[in-house]
Amino acid sequence: MAQQLRPPVITIMGHVDHGKTTLLDYIRKAKVAAREAGGITQHIGAYQVEHQGKKLTFIDTPGHAAFNKMRERGADVTDLIVLVVAANDGVKPQTIESIRHIKRSNKPFLVAINKIDMEGVYPDMVKAQLAEHDILVQGYGGDVETIELSAKTGKNVDKLLETLAVMAELAEFKADPEAPLEAIVIEATLDNKRGPVASVIVKNGTLKVRQDLTVEDIEGRVRQLTDENSNQLQAVLPGSPAEIVGLKKVPPVGSMVKEVGRDYAEKVENEAAGSELVDADQSPAAPVDPFADLDVDFAFGDKEKLTLIIKADVEGTLEVIKQNLDPDSVEILASGVGQVTEQDIELAQASDARIIAFHIKVPTKIRDLAKQNGVKIKEYDVIYKLIEDLQKQILRLMEPTIDEVVIGEAEILQIFEMKGERIAGVRVKTGEIKRSDLMHLKRGDEILANPVIKSMMHGKEEIQSLKAKNEGGLTFKNKKLNFQVGDILQAYKESDE
Ligand code: GDP
Repeated sequence: MAQQLRPPVITIMGHVDHGKTTLLDYIRKAKVAAREAGGITQHIGAYQVEHQGKKLTFIDTPGHAAFNKMRERGADVTDLIVLVVAANDGVKPQTIESIRHIKRSNKPFLVAINKIDMEGVYPDMVKAQLAEHDILVQGYGGDVETIELSAKTGKNVDKLLETLAVMAELAEFKADPEAPLEAIVIEATLDNKRGPVASVIVKNGTLKVRQDLTVEDIEGRVRQLTDENSNQLQAVLPGSPAEIVGLKKVPPVGSMVKEVGRDYAEKVENEAAGSELVDADQSPAAPVDPFADLDVDFAFGDKEKLTLIIKADVEGTLEVIKQNLDPDSVEILASGVGQVTEQDIELAQASDARIIAFHIKVPTKIRDLAKQNGVKIKEYDVIYKLIEDLQKQILRLMEPTIDEVVIGEAEILQIFEMKGERIAGVRVKTGEIKRSDLMHLKRGDEILANPVIKSMMHGKEEIQSLKAKNEGGLTFKNKKLNFQVGDILQAYKESDE
């Protein structure tokens, strides 16, 4: 299915006591979608309202904490930002901090000048102060929209919603309800009765009841989907929030919820019938698309191989794991169904192999024995996680033997999405980065991948290089390159010596 327009996701920011909560409460009370009126409201971290037939989704945990947590994980749900400034108080430290966030995020935003019901307040004073911080509003040399409103009386709140709806229309936020599911966790808790509860906003695809999910290494199945008015839902479309019950653990804020199984089922169907692949009923870990998240951006040369002993709970899963390991980079010394044994440890020690235990709880006795013999046992419950980890270990083995000279480093500050493609918004910290350079994608000291740049943009202009202190947008040939905010792109060349 093609991309379709979706509701915008709006975040409210500003200084403490400037009226963010009051504004969110007012909007919610005044504008709950008609079909949902009468429901018992519950806090799920976001809510949706309708204004003149258009849906708007508000994140209702104002402030920066949630925003920062999400950014740390490279998650980005916000489409539009409302900067609230109280007319009686003006620009304050957290207003300035919010301005910094807004500038860095590059998102469309508007300024709500609040508390205009109070006596003796001058909205123009706020506008002049904003200009000092490079926010040029209409009438003050720029085109940033301002709405003078009162969250208390509701004056001009409609105008705010209308402006947000227009901004959303102009920006054309789109997603594909039939794409693989991507939903971002905005809040998560452990509920006494219901177990782990996660509030999410769907970014792409459709979240459905009974879907099998993974969130990082947590699995689950959607047992219950609820909206902020306690309505039970069957399906949630992009741009909308919902609360999920059914995950096995509490996922971190900012993590991405994905669907398990659909791609996998298709893959199985497409493969020769009768092949010994996982039977979904048989294996608690399956089905997973083992390719879903991999960075396979590197070529294997005549490098050292990773030697493994693989143990899994069922034959089908074992086969899937084996089939997805590259024989050029991994040597499977032994594999089998069932518990890790003393013989496995002996073999591993003799051959300098690692042991992979998939969906097996390794007894302490065996663990201790492995430790004493310097053998590594790694347990996994999710196939893609296993494969991802192995790729990282292979990369580590592949650490260059020839000298590399670093010629430039850029930090990923933001991640954008355009036409289904992820764009890394970077700032060059040192040296220079050219489009044709060899690159490492690094997180901390670890090289995650050796990506190849597909395009380099500055604004709308296609460029060939970026020098220190400059910012630009990069896309990569590997569309699934798993970069996050904070990662480093290192351009290097191989030294001849
Ligand atoms: P937050 O910290 O930004 O979430 O601010 P709150 O929404 O908690 O508001 C702080 C205080 O300002 C509360 O006492 C509100 O009642 C008050 N307040 C919020 N909006 C308005 C407004 O438009 N007019 C007036 N007079 N008071 C407001």
